[in-house]
Amino acid sequence: MLIQRGGLKVVAGLGISGVAAVNFLHEHSYRVAVTDSRKTPPGHEQIPADVQTSFGQLDQELLLQAEEIVISPGLDPKIPEIQAAIAQGIPVVSEIQILRRATDKPIVAITGSNAKSTVTTLIGLMAKDAGKKVAVGGNLGRPALDLTKDDPELYILELSSFQLETTSNLNAEVAVVLNMSEDHLDRHGDMFGYHTAKHRIFQGVKKVVFNRDDSLTRPLVPDTTPMQSFGLNAPDLNQYGILKEDNGTMWLARGRERLLKSADMYIQGTHNVANALACLALGEAIGLPLDSMLETLKTFKGLEHRCEFVKEVHGVRYYNDSKGTNIGATLAAIDGLGAAIEPKQGKVAIILGGQGKGQDFTALRESLSKYAKVAVLIGEDRPIIEAAIQGTTTLLHAESLKEAVELCQQHTQANDVVLLSPACASFDMFKGYSERGHQFVECVNTLA
Ligand code: ADP
Repeated sequence: MLIQRGGLKVVAGLGISGVAAVNFLHEHSYRVAVTDSRKTPPGHEQIPADVQTSFGQLDQELLLQAEEIVISPGLDPKIPEIQAAIAQGIPVVSEIQILRRATDKPIVAITGSNAKSTVTTLIGLMAKDAGKKVAVGGNLGRPALDLTKDDPELYILELSSFQLETTSNLNAEVAVVLNMSEDHLDRHGDMFGYHTAKHRIFQGVKKVVFNRDDSLTRPLVPDTTPMQSFGLNAPDLNQYGILKEDNGTMWLARGRERLLKSADMYIQGTHNVANALACLALGEAIGLPLDSMLETLKTFKGLEHRCEFVKEVHGVRYYNDSKGTNIGATLAAIDGLGAAIEPKQGKVAIILGGQGKGQDFTALRESLSKYAKVAVLIGEDRPIIEAAIQGTTTLLHAESLKEAVELCQQHTQANDVVLLSPACASFDMFKGYSERGHQFVECVNTLA
């Protein structure tokens, strides 16, 4: 029989990361219990039979018996059941905290309002191509506590503000907040709360990467902490940035050294140039050779649902940016595609809407006025969005994604672009952004 260690760990909220947490703690001989408000939470069949479960409501009694609560990122620590435990002095931590305790291997930690998955995937590939035994996951793909099975020499983690809220002293080898724009204000209360959560990533950090174009990404850390920056302007010595030739050619650069033409990458748009530069800076911090990183950049095709080109129909190009779930992402898509088709008098027809998460949609006004010929509104928060962007472009309503795509087709002509970039969460109409994106692709594929 295994000797049970210490007190009881209670995992609050199952789902993908909860399952990994339960299994990890069980394998490491902790006493584990799990509670979830759902009667049959996803993943309940993947946990060991001897783990105590309490489903159907968050079990207050069980939570109060915990030595420590491991909270799922989907649960808000402000709910009464968790607050009651905190009031009793019971620590509430994320699964990332458990990972940090379990390993002394270096962690590359990545957060931001947008670009987390793109940057995490790309720096993961760079590290792999450079011969590192690396494990990549966290908020993206595999949950953090699953990665320990690989026994990697390096962890590359995408971290959400929800995970960071309950993570202390991450002591990352290098950390970055890629950018900051409004998101999840329904949970964090305001930008200050959101910013505070994200900047927890820098607690105990050894090296920092920050975005020169976004002052909110620059942390307050001791002067002795090495800092490297990236930005979409000419870089100072040793920084990453861009150099432009008179003919418009854009180079990714380090100081005065030209590294790679932006046109030599598959991923397009200036936001992706910023993402590539962020990866070069992170890679430098963990000692990846520059040549190898540049080779990886030339082969990376980008991720599904992120400004992904779907098809051209009668000269109109269709893009699936279903992962554009906040205003920052949608602005990057409209501005990037809008500027690219402007020389040919092309305009953007955009599908917007869903659950707005308390964002201020007036931030879209300027870009819509400049680049959009029509905005088709879908989903729950249509009235809020409509009021905020009234007068910028033609506004239409659709009851389904299919109707929205058809309306866009009717209002576009050759050289225009149809863009699904809703700036909203999808759960009012879909299971998630991925289902929304796949349905969009299906609708586009049936257009005559
Ligand atoms: P995250 O994991 O942070 O959600 P993703 O890489 O999945 O990031 O991209 C989410 C959305 O953000 C997509 O719509 C994508 O096109 C957009 N995006 C990617 N990089 C940037 C950037 N640097 N600035 C703004 N938006 C971006």
